Amino acid sequence: MSDCLFCKIVAGEIPSNKVYEDELCYAFYDIAPMAPTHFLVIPKEHFASAAEVTEENAPVIGHIYKVIAKLARELNLDGFRVVTNCGEIAGQTVHHIHFHVLSGKELGSFN
Ligand code: 5GP
Ligand code: ZN
Repeated sequence: MSDCLFCKIVAGEIPSNKVYEDELCYAFYDIAPMAPTHFLVIPKEHFASAAEVTEENAPVIGHIYKVIAKLARELNLDGFRVVTNCGEIAGQTVHHIHFHVLSGKELGSFN
């Protein structure tokens, strides 16, 4: 999608600090980290949010969770949180689905 920030990051048009890449997904450190370790994992194919998961694009979600588990092992993360904000009321600011991976501090509980 031509005017999407994260599509531009995948295309290398906007620089990012890459954690991992394969044919389906791209992982990079968040520009405004909320924890000592905070990176984002996104599908290379654009879709907006968890509200747009379909039969066709669902497999990449499982793939992303597999990549997160691999990266957590490689980065020796001692526990982590995965978050995907869906919609502006939930705090989504970039409308290309992304999974925040947060680690390295006590993260507290949801209320
Ligand atoms: P959201 O608020 O949509 O769940 O998460 C978007 C995330 O993208 C935010 O945590 C924000 O800091 C991050 N972000 C926004 N613009 C950029 C950017 O240009 N580069 C990187 N690496 N992260 C970004
Ligand atoms: Zn996009």
